[in-house]
Amino acid sequence: MTSVQSTQLMEIPAALVPHIMLPRLELLSDARTRGAECVWGGERMTGETAVDLGKHTDGGLNWFPRACRRCTRAAVRAARDYHPGSCEQCADNADICDVRRGLHELFIGLSR
Ligand SMILES: [Zn+2]
Ligand SMILES: [Zn+2]
Repeated sequence: MTSVQSTQLMEIPAALVPHIMLPRLELLSDARTRGAECVWGGERMTGETAVDLGKHTDGGLNWFPRACRRCTRAAVRAARDYHPGSCEQCADNADICDVRRGLHELFIGLSR
């Protein structure tokens, strides 16, 4: 028996993926583009620690980066803090912006 089923694999909601800044694909090692290592820090990924960062397409190439929770948390926080300055909805009323709320909830979830 394994405990794989009971571990909580984090996944970034598809709507929020475009808001999270990733390193440039051409600068990454093969292991990082394959999701074997954290796309930011290069930590070795296991099923329990990996966060799925969704599907990305660069120059016609599909890749599926993964990251450790610590790096993901930092990236999500940066995305949340950066977002309002580039969002018309946030300039109008940040309380009803789904993207901002989604990023914030994701950050809280990663902080647990
Ligand atoms: Zn990492
Ligand atoms: Zn917004």
